[in-house]
Amino acid sequence: MPNMSKSKTPVPEQNPEVRARNFEEVTLGYTEELALAEASRCLNCPTKPCVSGCPVGVRIPEFIEKITHQDYAGAYEIIHSTNALPAVCGRVCPQERQCESRCVRAKNGEAVGIGRLERFIADLHQDKDQLDAIIKKPDSNHHKIAIVGGGNEAMN
Ligand code: SF4
Repeated sequence: MPNMSKSKTPVPEQNPEVRARNFEEVTLGYTEELALAEASRCLNCPTKPCVSGCPVGVRIPEFIEKITHQDYAGAYEIIHSTNALPAVCGRVCPQERQCESRCVRAKNGEAVGIGRLERFIADLHQDKDQLDAIIKKPDSNHHKIAIVGGGNEAMN
């Protein structure tokens, strides 16, 4: 069931009193919870009008669908297959005049926050510790394995 909110999920920003004392980015970017909420606003339109607004043809509905399945590495692969600089584009591309201007959600509310989601995935990819914390590791089955030829013999 898509999230039918007419507004984009707000993105956290630094408190004005704090940001007046540093040179960090004002916009902090989505947390996983916020990214999931925004990704679920996408209707996965079969005609993909948003893609026709992207100069590098990022497969937008496909990467957003990966986010909804919490497959963040898969989302990054899709973006990176046509865009070498997703962290930059997620911040500085004029999405409101490109992909987001073609988004069907913009006909009755705000477009899906495509740029915000792209930034979330790019930043996650660069922050491996955060990614490891989010990716659920399978529980151990306590079985041990041996690797044949994996001893300490010197290699010549
Ligand atoms: S046009 Fe908007 S709602 Fe449709 S697939 Fe693209 S981002 Fe999703």
